Amino acid sequence: MATLEQVTEAHARRQKQLAKRTAEDLHRLWRLIDPSRIGESWRLMLPQALGLLATSQARAAASAGIYVDDALEAQGLHFEPEGRVISTSLAGIASDGRNLTSLMFEPAIQTLSALKQGQPYSRANAVGLLSLDKISRTQVADAGRGGESIAITARPQVQGYVRMLSLPSCSRCVILAGKFFRWNAGFRRHPRCDCRHIPSRENVAGDLLTDPKKAFDEMPAAEQDRVFTKAGATAIREGADMNQVVNARRGMETAVVFGQKVKITKTNARRGRPRLMPEQILIEAKGNRVEAIRLMRLHGYLN
Ligand SMILES: [Zn+2]
Repeated sequence: MATLEQVTEAHARRQKQLAKRTAEDLHRLWRLIDPSRIGESWRLMLPQALGLLATSQARAAASAGIYVDDALEAQGLHFEPEGRVISTSLAGIASDGRNLTSLMFEPAIQTLSALKQGQPYSRANAVGLLSLDKISRTQVADAGRGGESIAITARPQVQGYVRMLSLPSCSRCVILAGKFFRWNAGFRRHPRCDCRHIPSRENVAGDLLTDPKKAFDEMPAAEQDRVFTKAGATAIREGADMNQVVNARRGMETAVVFGQKVKITKTNARRGRPRLMPEQILIEAKGNRVEAIRLMRLHGYLN
């Protein structure tokens, strides 16, 4: 039987590769842009770009149930799920509930505005490419994590998850890694973040919990300097509190953060437009597992 480490690392690696491949496929499309008609030419390629991204989102979410079961089994746990994740429910929509088409047009807008500011074409194009890379990797990773969160919710005996780091990582993730979070705690992440859930029970998770200072101590000094900056790493080596050194909240958001966003999507849901996203459901359910599962089924995430 595979160990928990093998299960979680293999899953993280596959998800990371999927996000990388998706970004590379989209880069190839982006290179076909006609410099004299940036907006129109990207608009013509959007259906293909959206198809690529949506397929990867569905694939990322599709492995969630199997992963959660395998990770639990490696901890000697077996629970019958109340439903299966419908992977396509996380595809073709941005993780915060926004329209994916307008989000995918963003790279063209950024390129055009860089040109307007007088940047040379090569620079402006690189700005767009960076934006495309960020969007594609973040959306694939979010779909995978969304699937994991739904799969965890659907197994009521699973009280939560331990946050797992995927190296190389950043300081904000290092100080959150190895901590236990309740099943309904939103996953704080930054663009391109590839941290993941390890489903567990509170009494079992003990072995999984790690001290961020221990993780820091195990890093080579050069890596400490890269992740925490030279000044930050020196301060920590000299005994400073890691939480004081790292600005943990900078750029870290759950997929659903602002009350305003929640309100907009609720309005849309009433009009029969985008569904509540899984993280919004976790907020709405206010800790009630039965209600969370009911809402996930109602909004098409669980069968
Ligand atoms: Zn990070």
